[in-house]
Amino acid sequence: MPADLDLNEIHWLMDMFNTVDVGLVVLDRDYKVCVWNGFMENHSGLLPSAVKDKDLFDLFPSIDEKWFKSKAESVFVLKNRSFTIWEQQPYIFRFKNYRPITGKADYMYQNATFIPLTNTQGEVEHICIILYDVTDIAVNKKELEKLNKKLEQVSQTDSLTQLTNRGHWEHLLHQEFLRTKRNKGCCSLIIFDIDHFKKVNDDFGHACGDEALRHIASLLKTALRETDIAGRYGGEEFVVTLLDTDKQGAVIFAERLRKLIETSPFNYKEHKLKMTISIGIACLDSEFKDHEHWIEAADNALYHSKETGRNRVSIYADIKNK
Ligand code: GH3
Ligand code: MG
Ligand code: MG
Repeated sequence: MPADLDLNEIHWLMDMFNTVDVGLVVLDRDYKVCVWNGFMENHSGLLPSAVKDKDLFDLFPSIDEKWFKSKAESVFVLKNRSFTIWEQQPYIFRFKNYRPITGKADYMYQNATFIPLTNTQGEVEHICIILYDVTDIAVNKKELEKLNKKLEQVSQTDSLTQLTNRGHWEHLLHQEFLRTKRNKGCCSLIIFDIDHFKKVNDDFGHACGDEALRHIASLLKTALRETDIAGRYGGEEFVVTLLDTDKQGAVIFAERLRKLIETSPFNYKEHKLKMTISIGIACLDSEFKDHEHWIEAADNALYHSKETGRNRVSIYADIKNK
């Protein structure tokens, strides 16, 4: 017994060792357990006497032995500290999480510090693992990440139709504008507007109008390919960016969509509402200085479709000099 430690002090140290809210484990060179504190006992249900001199990996088969040893060996050999964090490895010891507030986690998330323990000759024959319960931090961080993701999704989505909203769609169009210019590729923009939509609201009410907008959005979704980016641009105006699509491809898509909507009436109560759309197409051209200019061109084509009888498709390149 060290001379400067009397019996009382040892008693106190043992008390603290067993009540401190971190896990303390000492392992020898063969990974046999030498010391096991109260925290470890409480969470594992194993008494110190039950684990003493037992192989750690026999006691806890769920520990990734290869990973654990690579961590511990550097502590034995280099006599340096080593750390593990829950983001890399959620836990070392698979302890059930009993905390009421963080009941969302099945297991205790753990950070750990491995420290070398030197003997009187300065050799490292043992290491100590200090185990921290970081379940609260981990659960909070994961919840926050989930919430942020949801928030981002909500901020980019139109609540009525679940299509991309105008702001986000424009952001994506801007990116596509730059990418297509850089690659000297092709990309087409489609904008369409429901014909005489005001009449739907006037005749059947706003709730019916909302339903009708959802109906159009769901038809649009069925017509889309994986790479098409559809958005709700405004009230009853929708937009689609067709990646790597030239004029011919855009016209085929637009005609298919126009016919689909024309032939898919919307059932509202006892009514069968037939709707049509007018479409404008603008394929990316070097004359467009920015993506706003590109939208304007598609809008001009849409206006032309309205002016020339509705329920039709117009292409900016064909009408611009008229
Ligand atoms: P046009 O063929 O020229 O496009 O005629 P229109 O009646 O469709 O055009 P107008 O721009 O005059 O009317 C658009 C209508 O769309 C007016 C507005 O009340 C309605 N609208 C816009 N957003 C919504 C919405 O979110 N819900 C409902 N129910 N109606 C909307
Ligand atoms: Mg309209
Ligand atoms: Mg409109």
